[in-house]
Amino acid sequence: MRRCDVSKSGRLIIVSNRVAKPKRRGAAAGGLAVGILGALKESGGMWFGWSGKLTDRETRDPKISRSGNIEYATVELNERDFEHYYNGFSNRVLWPVCHYLLSFMQYESADFDGYRRVNTALARKLAALVKPDDVIWVHDYHLIPLAAELRAAGISNPIGFFLHVPFPSYEALRAVPNHEYLLRSLCAYDVVGFHTERDLACFQQSVTQPDIGGSLLPGGDIEIGGGRLKADVFPIGIDVDELQDLSLAAQSLSRVKSLVRSLAGRDLMIGVDRLDYSKALTQRLLSYERLLEKYPNTQSNLTYLQIAPPTRSGVRAYEEIRAELEQTSGRINGRFAEADWVPIRYLNKGVDRKRLMGYFRNSAIGLVTPIRDGMNLVAKEYLAAQDPEDPGVLVLSTLAGAAAELSEAVLINPYDRDAVADGIGAALNMPLEERRERHDVMLKTLRRNDIVAWRSRFVEALHGR
Ligand code: UDP
Repeated sequence: MRRCDVSKSGRLIIVSNRVAKPKRRGAAAGGLAVGILGALKESGGMWFGWSGKLTDRETRDPKISRSGNIEYATVELNERDFEHYYNGFSNRVLWPVCHYLLSFMQYESADFDGYRRVNTALARKLAALVKPDDVIWVHDYHLIPLAAELRAAGISNPIGFFLHVPFPSYEALRAVPNHEYLLRSLCAYDVVGFHTERDLACFQQSVTQPDIGGSLLPGGDIEIGGGRLKADVFPIGIDVDELQDLSLAAQSLSRVKSLVRSLAGRDLMIGVDRLDYSKALTQRLLSYERLLEKYPNTQSNLTYLQIAPPTRSGVRAYEEIRAELEQTSGRINGRFAEADWVPIRYLNKGVDRKRLMGYFRNSAIGLVTPIRDGMNLVAKEYLAAQDPEDPGVLVLSTLAGAAAELSEAVLINPYDRDAVADGIGAALNMPLEERRERHDVMLKTLRRNDIVAWRSRFVEALHGR
């Protein structure tokens, strides 16, 4: 692996809403936690954020602990503030808008106030820990105002921001009350990073609106209010070697072996997604139903395993999806199942990483069909876990950020059930030579844009400010 030594110029402090401490790193870790850990593991540094615990008192001072070369600084959050900041403004406003799902947006001004309050509180706690040479890298939509709050607390260190979700077009963003505040807050960073060129273009379009006042300079920097920020594309990646090794080692796990046995020689198609409406899981089940109708030879021959760990239990829309999915998968299974074959195996729980890689390696198809996704690490992990001599095929939504890099996947529009069904059909019939060629090209891309490249390019950009 390539090295990028940030220690010589101070610590890397990573800030995210939730800190995934080693003992709590559960099976349902999201892409952000996986990416941050991969980035911190090599350089070391500090990870600051919420501990996952709530308190009825005020946010207290951070608890510091260490594991290997990573120092964890975690704070408990006040219950009421958390409801407004996290479930409220972050997940009922920013999440749906960034995924172009405006009808899911539920704005309350009390939530917006809570969002600001928590960002102010976190900035004050963090400011007390910052040393002069540190660089600070803030992650995701929960913490947009953090740089401005840190500056107000007297911090002049380089501060960067990476958005793990899509940046919406200005026409969607301007539906959010106080969107001007969000845009100006983003301009308090030295570096702002996105997964794709499309996200960057939307950001540039938004900050150059007349009421925000940014101007785009040659070379891509943005000038605003007498300051300058760099906005660029840094697609998050994975540790390809680690996942290849893991997927190979996982073949001896008893759960992986018993899955393979249970297939009785049938092909396996796998989907792995948090239970989130942006992943469009019901739509995906209906596309699979369309496949079974259109291509009757897939009946009894293709088993679809959907792993869908629950998430964000405090947001009502998420409980509704769960009920809808259970109903739809039950109906499709009732319609097509035979005594010795059930079309959909639906797991409403997470699976640990190693076993997941083992499942991926035994899946002829990886099905990734979100209706919008910042990147989608599952798509990349599925490819890394394949046997290069006999790889499976990735069927990927054009609306996932990963599609910008993985053009050799079978690309489909997830809104079009026939297109998804035909894409799966084409993947099932793809000759070995073609599967190898496509996999080889995509693996090279994954290596070029791996997790180390993501981290080093961003941190280098931050040091350059
Ligand atoms: N993941 C996991 N176990 C599960 C489900 C997901 O380890 O049961 C991991 C998965 O391997 C990936 C991450 O969680 O690294 C999900 O990231 P992705 O970018 O695909 O989606 P997000 O959840 O961030 O929207």
